[in-house]
Amino acid sequence: MTKVLAIASQKGGVGKTTTAINLGSYLAQSGREVLIIDLDPQGNATSGLSVVSSSPIPITDLWTGKSSWEDLSASTTVPQLSVFGAGPRAETLDELSLRSTRVSELRASLATSPWEIVVIDSPPSLGPATHLALSWADEVLIPVQCEYFAMEGLTQMLELVERTNRERSKPLEIAGILLTLFSETSQLSVEVVEEVRKYFPRHVLETIIPRDEALAEATSHGEPVSRYAPRARGAWAYLNLAKEILAHEREETR
Ligand code: ATP
Ligand code: MG
Repeated sequence: MTKVLAIASQKGGVGKTTTAINLGSYLAQSGREVLIIDLDPQGNATSGLSVVSSSPIPITDLWTGKSSWEDLSASTTVPQLSVFGAGPRAETLDELSLRSTRVSELRASLATSPWEIVVIDSPPSLGPATHLALSWADEVLIPVQCEYFAMEGLTQMLELVERTNRERSKPLEIAGILLTLFSETSQLSVEVVEEVRKYFPRHVLETIIPRDEALAEATSHGEPVSRYAPRARGAWAYLNLAKEILAHEREETR
């Protein structure tokens, strides 16, 4: 069974793409076959893994049978990690999100693919790509930046998950709320952590991602931090996040 994990937030710059790349790469390093699907027209997850997407990629080929997932995905420098840059075809996504049968076809086609975990990176909006990601995924991970207005964005996202669930037979689970860009020296960061933990105790992940320049540098060099700076604090944090996500999975299957 392929598990589909969407990383989503309508807020920009909260660490969605950084999380997709680095969580994806540590999951692959733990022995899973992982595919990152980049649904953001900005294509940051694709370029952040040094993959030049041959835009426009015809995602429609998937259900006309012209191409398979393997044909459309590119391998990366990390063994067992592939990426599929679907973002540039925003109009196709629009059509997709309007047709829920397509979502079930996508699900069915992934089930016969080699991937065990699919991580979807979505754009900072509540538009068709995010809608598709939430209709398609089994679970959603919501990054929250330890900054002003963190709670506002989060409440909106949780409402969206609820609304999505009204249209779904199997509910979209919340894999977790991930606190990102945490600065120890910032009182505001500490307060945001306390506040989010207080209001959403069940959903907040234990792992907190610190603000660490190594993460930004790694992406700009087109590498996951596990290859660029494996000893950096940000690298340890994403390694721990991968462990936490895998531990939840084991609990679920028990
Ligand atoms: P968008 O909404 O535009 O897609 P996003 O939510 O995907 O943004 P990222 O692109 O991952 O966010 O991060 C925004 C910027 O912050 C990037 O320049 C990234 O390199 C940097 N960044 C992300 N996480 C961290 C971190 N923990 N420490 C330092 N810099 C970070
Ligand atoms: Mg992004």
